[in-house]
Amino acid sequence: MARKKTALKKSGAAKKGKTAKPKKSTGSRKKFQTVRGMRDILPQEQPYWQRVRKAVEKVANDYGYQRIDLPLVEYRQLFERGAGATTDIVEKEIFKFKTRGGDDVALRPEGTPSAVRAYLQHGMQTLPKPVKLFYIGPMYRFDRPQEGRYREFFQFGFEAIGEGDSILDAQIIQLALRIFHVLKIKKVSLQINSIGCKECRPSYNKLLVSYLKNCRSSLCMNCKQRLKKNPLRILDCKEEKCARVIKQAPQTIDHLCDDCKNHFTSLLECLDEIQVPYVLNSYLVRGLDYYSRTVFEFFVESKETQSQAALGGGGRYDYLVKLLGGSDTPAVGFAMGMDRLVAQMKEQKVEAFEPPTPRVYLAQLGDLAKKKSLRIFDELERSGIQVAESFGRGNLRSQLKQADRLKAPIVLIIGQREALDETVILKDMASGSQEVITFAKIVKEVKKRVKRL
Ligand code: AMP
Repeated sequence: MARKKTALKKSGAAKKGKTAKPKKSTGSRKKFQTVRGMRDILPQEQPYWQRVRKAVEKVANDYGYQRIDLPLVEYRQLFERGAGATTDIVEKEIFKFKTRGGDDVALRPEGTPSAVRAYLQHGMQTLPKPVKLFYIGPMYRFDRPQEGRYREFFQFGFEAIGEGDSILDAQIIQLALRIFHVLKIKKVSLQINSIGCKECRPSYNKLLVSYLKNCRSSLCMNCKQRLKKNPLRILDCKEEKCARVIKQAPQTIDHLCDDCKNHFTSLLECLDEIQVPYVLNSYLVRGLDYYSRTVFEFFVESKETQSQAALGGGGRYDYLVKLLGGSDTPAVGFAMGMDRLVAQMKEQKVEAFEPPTPRVYLAQLGDLAKKKSLRIFDELERSGIQVAESFGRGNLRSQLKQADRLKAPIVLIIGQREALDETVILKDMASGSQEVITFAKIVKEVKKRVKRL
């Protein structure tokens, strides 16, 4: 089972040949583990995540999107009404609970309903359109954990609210691709479709249901249920037996009204204009009820899993603002899975963001020198100089080794005598030369030398 393999691969216990089974509680000596499907993102992973966040912030700024931070907890109804009560996300995957005050709430499974809720709650309707927002943060879905699928995972999302023109759809796709480019993630493919609007979708739905009813016995159990509640979702089913049925099903694209057809055509023309290749996938519907017209998804060929991994996707949601209590307001957006982006960066051996190396290392010997070092550290840091230290260590040799390991070009050494004289020994690590300078001149001297590097 893929899930077990992953757990074994990652656990230190497994490497040592021990069983990875969680131990039974032994009262106060119990060693806690993360909750199933959730994980720590350790310091050595952080450079990748930092790089993703930086890319998102840069591109958001370039395209005029403003950051919004949304709560992790929202009223459950927001997602039921927003994403759709019969969608997998809401029906099977939502983390829901009652607060002590009796409110029905949920951990957010995605960001779009919250963004629209915030748009309405804070009167953003009065702002010039489109209102462009982006968010970054954890999402929660009670799905079966496996490689690349967690119960707590991270997404960033972009939402442009208030504009129906297909140029916005093209621009948001361009923006998403720009993020892949900045992150140097290659071999991303774009799949795209139009699922119509409230004018043309009902008649398509009827056609689809009548086709699927005839093939009911060939559908999986889930899709048999979907046939009653949410037939469009059947087109998204990954079961092999359903895939055979879907292949012959009527396609949304052949049943669009003239407005939807024109909207989609003009979007494809925009993509051609900016030379964005796409694959038309007439069975792409995405998992949420709120989509209308354009839907799209980004995939990457994963060597590790020998399959196409979905990195993110989105589309138009022209009815969601009204559904959540606002006026008729078209909108378009997408969300991307950060966990999968990081996995791809590693698979494609993209360099992670490197934090700046320290310019100065502070080495100290003795109690008084330690105290003085604290003061010098503060002065250097306030002057914008990156300083490293290991105040806990007393051994000079080990401190110099550490300075070398961190590649600090300058080391300031303070011993008992220097501390009393208020001086430091400035050591140039490249040449090995040393000179004594007074406390008062440290910042000036260091700045002078750092400039020369
Ligand atoms: P969705 O809104 O479901 O299409 O999700 C957008 C993206 O979020 C997906 O393409 C994935 O990259 C990521 N994602 C969704 N669910 C999970 C999960 N359970 N674990 C990790 N990433 C996820």
